[in-house]
Amino acid sequence: MPCGGCTRLLPDPAFAQKNLSLLSLGWIKELQAINRTDRYIDLGSCVSLNGVLALPNIPALDPLKKALLTIGSASIRNRATLGGNICGRDSFGSAFPALSAMEATVELRSAAGTQWLSIHDLVGQDNLPAIPAGSFLDRVRVPLRDWEHNCIVRKGPGLLPGDTNITLTIVANIEKDAISEIHIVLTGRQLVRNRALEMRLTGKKLPLPAKESENCHHDFLESAVEAGLPAGQAIAVADSVRAFLVDLSGGAS
Ligand SMILES: Cc1cc2nc3c(=O)[nH]c(=O)nc-3n(C[C@H](O)[C@H](O)[C@H](O)COP(=O)(O)OP(=O)(O)OC[C@H]3O[C@@H](n4cnc5c(N)ncnc54)[C@H](O)[C@@H]3O)c2cc1C
Repeated sequence: MPCGGCTRLLPDPAFAQKNLSLLSLGWIKELQAINRTDRYIDLGSCVSLNGVLALPNIPALDPLKKALLTIGSASIRNRATLGGNICGRDSFGSAFPALSAMEATVELRSAAGTQWLSIHDLVGQDNLPAIPAGSFLDRVRVPLRDWEHNCIVRKGPGLLPGDTNITLTIVANIEKDAISEIHIVLTGRQLVRNRALEMRLTGKKLPLPAKESENCHHDFLESAVEAGLPAGQAIAVADSVRAFLVDLSGGAS
């Protein structure tokens, strides 16, 4: 099994019981590379979370950096890698929803060669993580596109993401007093993304009528409950979605 900093694997009692062999990728120079062009930045899968946080003057990375800052302590983030956060098998790491909202792509490597996929291809049909067997993550490509409005909300007990330890990411841009784009992604054990809701909001003039924010609250609540979130938590994340929309409207709706 490939591993990065082992900060997720080693504390996991299930891992200790399985007696698996580890293939440590952390020392491979190519996987620590960071390359930037005008349009995107490539982050090697073994770049540490602090390595990403240390990148200066790239506003497009704001949502990702905010998500990374919610993970562990500074010393954990020194060891923990971006690849290990993306490739958790039982639940989505806290950086995953930001990368999903930012429309990142990933390069996977296997004995057959390399292939670029949307990060959403790492989500199975049941909305659970689905890292293709026999491959490892090479690098992550993040479009250099600023998200003027973005927020990360963490909720739930415990350290590791799971059934009730969840992360909500919302990114949005406004053009000519209308929402030009908005992505809303919730992860824990499953990934929840209501694309119909995102499409409905895109192009809407601001401020949004109060009724529209209420409808969005209702729709996102339904998606979260469908994904198996306990009612209290589903309501809390739907509240956060509504609060973001009200904020976007400048509190005017
Ligand atoms: C105190 C503490 C707090 C934490 N808080 C959080 C938190 O808030 N949110 C959160 O998401 N995590 C948290 N974690 C878990 C962990 O630190 C992070 O998820 C981290 O990013 C995992 O990176 P890693 O390199 O240590 O992964 P590893 O433990 O090395 O690997 C994790 C998984 O990814 C796979 N993997 C690793 N690299 C690759 C690769 N390149 N290609 C394919 N598969 C790969 C491994 O096989 C394994 O299944 C916490 C851990 C601790 C100890």
